[in-house]
Amino acid sequence: MTTQDQTFDLAVLGGGSGGIATARRAAQYGAKVVLIEPARLGGTCVNVGCVPKKLMWHAAQIAGTLAEAAGYGFELSAHGHDWSTLVERREAYIRRLNGIYRDGLDRDRVSLVEGYGRLLPDGRVACGDTVIAARHVLIATGGKPQRPTIPGAELGIDSDGFFALQAMPKRVAVVGAGYIAVELCGVLRALGAEVTLIVRGQRLLSSFDAMLGEALSAELVQQGVHIRYGCEVRRLERQDGSLSASLNDGAAIAIDTLIWATGRRANTEGLGLAEAGIKLDDAGHVVVDDWQDSSREGVHAVGDVTGRVPLTPVAIAAGRRLADRLFDGQSERKLDYANIASVVFSHPPIGTVGLNEDAARKQHGDAVKIYSTRFKALYYGLLEHKHETAMKLVCVGPEQKVVGVHVIGIGADEMIQGFAVAVRMGASKRDFDDTVAIHPTSAEELVTMR
Ligand SMILES: Cc1cc2nc3c(=O)[nH]c(=O)nc-3n(C[C@H](O)[C@H](O)[C@H](O)COP(=O)(O)OP(=O)(O)OC[C@H]3O[C@@H](n4cnc5c(N)ncnc54)[C@H](O)[C@@H]3O)c2cc1C
Repeated sequence: MTTQDQTFDLAVLGGGSGGIATARRAAQYGAKVVLIEPARLGGTCVNVGCVPKKLMWHAAQIAGTLAEAAGYGFELSAHGHDWSTLVERREAYIRRLNGIYRDGLDRDRVSLVEGYGRLLPDGRVACGDTVIAARHVLIATGGKPQRPTIPGAELGIDSDGFFALQAMPKRVAVVGAGYIAVELCGVLRALGAEVTLIVRGQRLLSSFDAMLGEALSAELVQQGVHIRYGCEVRRLERQDGSLSASLNDGAAIAIDTLIWATGRRANTEGLGLAEAGIKLDDAGHVVVDDWQDSSREGVHAVGDVTGRVPLTPVAIAAGRRLADRLFDGQSERKLDYANIASVVFSHPPIGTVGLNEDAARKQHGDAVKIYSTRFKALYYGLLEHKHETAMKLVCVGPEQKVVGVHVIGIGADEMIQGFAVAVRMGASKRDFDDTVAIHPTSAEELVTMR
């Protein structure tokens, strides 16, 4: 083994959202930082997550707009859609981002070691033949898709495989009910695929407010997605050039591609963590306290590998605060995980922040008051096919503090960030009411609900 001749202040395992953000912030404070990454810089978000997903979502939105343009007087005829052009342009954009991340690390003088890192029992970090000593180690190795252990599971693909598709599959089954499942489903349907969504339980987006899953389910059905609730794939087989998925109810469906969107697991295997005395939970996540500290002194973790709110801005925010604390003396800096807003890039999109109604009722019982509304956005005024917007405010206590805002409908994705500030600041329903509306928008309904 060769030993890196210098001792670092921080060694980071993982060049994704959390790892890069922490490494750069620490280096900007003057820390000597090394980052270890085996694959393309930017991690899941940039390469096989948020970024390519949102670009695909835009393509799907354009398909919807083209279909609706006649209602506004346009005489258009779309001459099909070239999936491979979209993928080529998307990947070229991502390659540019990979380069920008590399430049950022260089600019901040973060050393990059390419390969898989692992922790040695003595607390040093190994990558191939190189051994690195560092005062602090950050585990930011993220997660990866998981699939069920049924016969033929390997014949399906996962979200990574979706982004590798060079042509659009004509008949697709998407298995899952979480945000990734409904997002991929929406893109494929909008671009013309025949889509079946296979849901084990009885609702979509079960960790979100029930209103959102119900409204989205109705929308997907209206768009022509076949949803099979209470359904599981028992076996996947190749048959005459297509795939056959045998279901728990005895039926079998013929498809070209099956996408497993059945959850993700932490990238902690083979990292030597347990041997180095680092506590993992039953699902393999690194257990961290409020300060992102693991059970071993000097070893920290941020992002998906911790299993706490697996979203890019969360990994970044936790990492930057950790660097503020470790390398800039900001001893009280840590991430507050409450009231983190998120968006589901479905069609239409969903924006949500704070407690959903069920959680609020469990915590606050009868002190909860709900305001909700449903309407058709003005955009649909000239269109034959109208889609509903649904909104809900969850309020608590005599002052009616707004503890949850949930929206599904066009514009929800860009609407929710500002409302997240209000919720975080403890705004009451009265504050919402006293805010003069912006007309004509959908968002104005959030400050005019009675
Ligand atoms: C399809 C999809 C869509 C998503 N959409 C969104 C979205 O719209 N908005 C949002 O906020 N979040 C979204 N996410 C989630 C988001 O991508 C993650 O929360 C985020 O990437 C987590 O960052 P991270 O730094 O924890 O891990 P990652 O970004 O996964 O980075 C981990 C890095 O560690 C590397 N690594 C693994 N093992 C080792 C090792 N042994 N040594 C060194 N490096 C290692 C990996 O190669 C990887 O680059 C999406 C995820 C998916 C899968």
